[in-house]
Amino acid sequence: MKQLRHGRFARTRVPAKNYQHPNTLAKRQARGVSVADRLSDTAAHHRVRWGSPFGWEDRGVPIELPAGVLGVVFDVGETLVDESRAWSRQAEAAGVTPFTLMGLLGALIARGEDHRRVWALLGIEKPAARTLIEEADLYPDALPCLRAVDERGLVVGIAGNQPAGVEAQLRAAGFSPHFLASSAAWGVEKPSPEFFDRVVAEAGLEPGAILYVGDRLDNDVLPARAAGMRTGFIRRGPWGHLHAQRPEARLADLRLNTLAELTDAMVAGRPAETLAPS
Ligand SMILES: [Mg+2]
Repeated sequence: MKQLRHGRFARTRVPAKNYQHPNTLAKRQARGVSVADRLSDTAAHHRVRWGSPFGWEDRGVPIELPAGVLGVVFDVGETLVDESRAWSRQAEAAGVTPFTLMGLLGALIARGEDHRRVWALLGIEKPAARTLIEEADLYPDALPCLRAVDERGLVVGIAGNQPAGVEAQLRAAGFSPHFLASSAAWGVEKPSPEFFDRVVAEAGLEPGAILYVGDRLDNDVLPARAAGMRTGFIRRGPWGHLHAQRPEARLADLRLNTLAELTDAMVAGRPAETLAPS
């Protein structure tokens, strides 16, 4: 490489495309690992669903329903329902911009703290006004997915940490599962084991025959797994994207980018005679 000598210091010209911060190179050299080895390790590490370091290359790769699953139970917020409108309304009611509120929520989630601390962080009371869930708030893949689970002949349930009255809102939005419950109605909330005991009781199935689908590791995947259920982790919403970076995301039986992938798995697993002619 060409040496440049300007003033007191000799500098090495490095082509821009090869540039890496000297600290990064020094750390790798200190560990005796070449840059090429590190890149190859990274590729192997990510050669699972959510394959690339950027996480998108496996979109469209078919998934398979775990063997023995006879029922699917869905979380609500950011699994079936897009909460953007509700949080924007909360920001408006609190007198802060949505950008501010959602940025702070992201920080709390990333730090593993309770997101409900956001109001204390802002130094204001939580606004009393609540936004009711409407059909327009549903993720577009939600209703088709529940329909596909039902048509596959499996038990369909919805159970999430939600306030009183959400059951009626979800039914009005178009859901008609075998059971629909909220933490408010049950008097127990995730991640409490009692919540998942109620899921098992309502589904009327062995825990291992239930697939619980949610967007959080701490409230959905890990406690459902501890209760003996199979789990589906959907990477959407702030929790989904942040928790997908954690190693425990690998513990989920299914790692989903959308519910449409689960819908496809339902249709793919159905006996041919039950499929409508196309
Ligand atoms: Mg959720």
